[in-house]
Amino acid sequence: MKEDVITLLDDARIRPTSTRILIYQYIAQQSDTFSLRDIEDALLSVDKSTIFRTLILFEEHHLIHSIEDGSGAMKYCFCRNAADCDSDVYHCHFYCERCKKTYCLDESAVANIALPAGFVMHHINYIVKGVCNKCSQ
Ligand SMILES: [Zn+2]
Ligand SMILES: [Zn+2]
Ligand SMILES: [Zn+2]
Repeated sequence: MKEDVITLLDDARIRPTSTRILIYQYIAQQSDTFSLRDIEDALLSVDKSTIFRTLILFEEHHLIHSIEDGSGAMKYCFCRNAADCDSDVYHCHFYCERCKKTYCLDESAVANIALPAGFVMHHINYIVKGVCNKCSQ
């Protein structure tokens, strides 16, 4: 498992330090989004600024996606397409206004938005807000 992560980070051209491996192992286990705070709480031994820098690095190398869900804290989710997502396979997210959790809607790809000539998309942030299946019962 640890060897797999080292290979994976190497492939993404990220030097596999022990901290990065630890953080990667944590985020790879998350089925939905997580925040910086979630990782800080889970990995108490790791310096907070290191976690933050690692998240930025992982995002630059497309190991994770960042999502602004309107909660004020940036959320992230693990890229399950081996760092190879086109904009048309980016998935949508669902923000539950009751439990404040942001879910990955892996089944629903982001709708293709036709941009006017000369506009270049770098990022798409598609968020649905409402009440999740646990809170709606
Ligand atoms: Zn991706
Ligand atoms: Zn909820
Ligand atoms: Zn997601």
